[in-house]
Amino acid sequence: MGAAPLVGVVNAGSSSLKFALYEGERRLLSGQVEGIGTRPAARARDAAGAPLDPPLPDPPPANPAEAAEALLPWLRRHLGGRPLAALGHRVVHGGPRHARPVRVTPALLAELEALVPLAPLHEPHNLAPIRAVLARDPGLAQVACFDTAFHRTMPAVAQAFALPHAMFEEGIRRYGFHGLSYEYIAAVLPERAPALARGRVVALHLGNGASACAMREGVSVATTMGFTALDGLPMGTRAGELDAGVVLHLLRQKGMAAEAVEELLYRRSGLLGLSGVSSDVRALLASAEPRAAFALEVFCDRAARAVASLAAALGGLDGVVFTAGIGENAAPVRAAICRRCAWLGLDLDEAANAAHGPRISAPGSRVEALVIPTDEERMIARHTLALL
Ligand code: ADP
Repeated sequence: MGAAPLVGVVNAGSSSLKFALYEGERRLLSGQVEGIGTRPAARARDAAGAPLDPPLPDPPPANPAEAAEALLPWLRRHLGGRPLAALGHRVVHGGPRHARPVRVTPALLAELEALVPLAPLHEPHNLAPIRAVLARDPGLAQVACFDTAFHRTMPAVAQAFALPHAMFEEGIRRYGFHGLSYEYIAAVLPERAPALARGRVVALHLGNGASACAMREGVSVATTMGFTALDGLPMGTRAGELDAGVVLHLLRQKGMAAEAVEELLYRRSGLLGLSGVSSDVRALLASAEPRAAFALEVFCDRAARAVASLAAALGGLDGVVFTAGIGENAAPVRAAICRRCAWLGLDLDEAANAAHGPRISAPGSRVEALVIPTDEERMIARHTLALL
């Protein structure tokens, strides 16, 4: 039997391009180009963590699409003469139709283009590299993996805003995001905690972006993010859930322009705005500034309230899973959230939590708590292989 096919994984943002190369589900290398458009810097490492000379062409890429074009010949130099079977991409929005990843065609690109107004800060940057590769290398199979797809199982009740129904039909509804991360958690739960995998779980994806998802038997039934990635929990720099009246006030009474409100809600709010110190939980935990502690308290309060709200959507709670940068590493944050969930039957094992689990609930706790590192890239590689 030959080796598994080689699959590239691309996660493109406004100024960065993260990439990885997989042989089947084995990661061979990974890296990123950051500061694209300003001061590009790149790094790449092989599977053992040894640095590789990174894919930074001269002149440096002016945008992520150019970075993706430069990535292809670089990747091929690292394939040992074997063909690149496909490229899988993270795409934030798949709209109401796509409940699973799809092969890229010109028609699909046109369809996704129409979703740009639903995710103007992310979707164009996800699509540009796909379009660039399609133009330069039309024979290379590409697969789009959507952050919204996992949540298409949510019942209409969980997708609805209490707005006139015509707006739902028009696409103004709760889509939910971080789907690749939740799908990964749902995929590994059967081996990590078989009984829990069949139960009612709230997964907390706490990174720079943060959300929570209610899963019943591994299927999404509700989530905190909504129409955009701005709803739900407070995040590094995003406000999260906010009385829409505040936005009206900023526009009408304070005369702020829509762009300024957008900048405020996406880049100057959340942990950064609350603390005035940093968006990074490491910096907040290390800070003596009272507002840093207050910002973390708001974050943990909202996360615990999200667990309770999602438990209501599930009709009960069997377990909680922490993942992503904060969820995997910030033991004091996990502890504060778990203590606020004690009334739900979650009994924290402080020592296990300090050691980052994987199980951080005490033996006999009615609600289990686990730490499971997420792996969205592996999920993209898996989907891309499956569609070949
Ligand atoms: P992204 O959403 O950009 O993928 P990550 O999931 O990598 O982000 O999460 C990044 C955040 O995780 C950082 O901003 C930081 O707040 C937090 N984080 C990472 N490592 C630690 C750590 N050791 N202790 C506390 N927080 C951490």
